[in-house]
Amino acid sequence: MTRKIIIVLIAAIAVVTGVTLFTVLTGKIMSAFSESGLPTAVQTGEAHSAADSESSGGTVPADGDMRIDEKLTDNPAVFETADSSGVIGDNPTVRSTYTVIIDPGHGFTDEGCSSDLIGDFTEKELTLAMAEDLRGILEGYGVNVIMLHDGKSFPPLTELVSLADSSGVEYNIDKCVDNNIFSAYERTVYANYLSKINDVDFFISIHVNAMENDPDYSGFEIDYCAENESSAVSKIFFDSIIDAVKSAYPSENLYTWEDSWDKAFIVTKYTSVPSVLFETGFATNAGDAARLTDRAERRKLMQTVADGIAEALEAAENAAEISR
Ligand SMILES: [Zn+2]
Repeated sequence: MTRKIIIVLIAAIAVVTGVTLFTVLTGKIMSAFSESGLPTAVQTGEAHSAADSESSGGTVPADGDMRIDEKLTDNPAVFETADSSGVIGDNPTVRSTYTVIIDPGHGFTDEGCSSDLIGDFTEKELTLAMAEDLRGILEGYGVNVIMLHDGKSFPPLTELVSLADSSGVEYNIDKCVDNNIFSAYERTVYANYLSKINDVDFFISIHVNAMENDPDYSGFEIDYCAENESSAVSKIFFDSIIDAVKSAYPSENLYTWEDSWDKAFIVTKYTSVPSVLFETGFATNAGDAARLTDRAERRKLMQTVADGIAEALEAAENAAEISR
C-alpha cells in the first residue's frame, strides 16, 4: 500500500511539473510572438533583380566643415563602446530584414582627396555617389539602409549630444569639440545613436585613396579594427567583402588591414556595431581614376561590395547571437 501511494505521488508530481513547464514555455513563446510578430524567415540576400534599377548618383553642394578622418593615435581608455554586451542590439528576436549604415566618407567643406586624374570630382562627391549606389543595391536585396549623411544635412553637435544622452550612447565630448563639424568621431557617436534606436548589423565607410608621390599605387583597400568589441563580427564582413572583390577584380591590388586599436580608423574603432572602411581606389592612379570617374564602373564596384555584405549578414548575425 505504502509503495503504491509513493508511486502515485511521484506520478502526480511528474504530471504537475510537466504541466508547469509546458505553461511557462508556451507563455514565453507567445510573448515572443506578441513582441515581434510572427517570426519570419531571415533575409537571405536574394532578389538581385531590383538592384539593377538606377539610383541617383551625382554631386551635392558643400556646406559645413569636417576633418579628414585620418588615422590617429589616442587614448583607448577614454571611450567605452556604448554597447559592450552584444554587438548587434539587445533584442534577440528574429528579424525579417537587416540594417546597414553607410557612411559616405568626408562631405560638406571637407572634400577629401583630389587629383588631376579625377578632374573636377572630389573624394566627397565620389564617396556620396558610390554610397548612394550601394544603398540602392542593398535596398534591392531587402536590406534596410541608413545613410549617415546625405551631403546636405547632419545633426549639429548640440543635437548630437542630446541624441546620444537620450539614448544612453557614451562619448567623449573632448573628441567632439574640435571646431570641426561632423568630424570622424562625431560620425561614430551618431552611428552609435542610430544603432541604439535601430537594430543595426553593419557599418561601412566608403572612401577614395590617394598616394600623391606614387601614381603607381592602385587598387582597393579594406580596414577593420581588430581590437574592439565588435571585431569578431567585423571580420566576417571584412573577409566576405575581400572574397567578393578578389572574385570580381582578380587582377587588381587589394590591401587588407586588420588594424590594432592604435592604428585603426576612427570610424571603425569607435562604432559599436561591426564595421569596415573600404577604399575604392587611388585617385592618383590613372587606371583607378578612370574607374572612379565612370559611373558604370563605380556601380559595378558597389555591386561587388554589396554582394560581400549580403553574403556576410546572416553569418554575422548568427555569430553575434552566439557571442551574446
Ligand atoms: Zn577619405
